[in-house]
Amino acid sequence: MRQDRYLSCASCQTRFLWTPAEQQDDAGPPLHCPACRRLLPAEGRRRGLVKFYSLRKQWGFITQPDGVELFFHRRALAAGETLPLHEGELVEYAVEPSPRGAQAVGLRRLALPGTP
Ligand SMILES: [Zn+2]
Repeated sequence: MRQDRYLSCASCQTRFLWTPAEQQDDAGPPLHCPACRRLLPAEGRRRGLVKFYSLRKQWGFITQPDGVELFFHRRALAAGETLPLHEGELVEYAVEPSPRGAQAVGLRRLALPGTP
């Protein structure tokens, strides 16, 4: 019988509830509290800002938190994402090697709090 457990967030050390329902469909205890999970990228993914996107060329670059710029092609957009992408938009993506260097895949916009 599962019961409520309290876990400590690896980022902010806040104690948070891990409910029996969450314990059922989860691979293991989450490392981060719900607030941090909303702020942190999903496992294996990164976040960055669109540096630019050229509708004509159909590719652009993302500025990553470490300052390294990452190439992405229109094909990198996840299903449901629409063009154009605008400079400064927050995006989440995975990084995949390609013959011409690393590139973003599975790119999704993240809504900033307070924006529709
Ligand atoms: Zn936290």
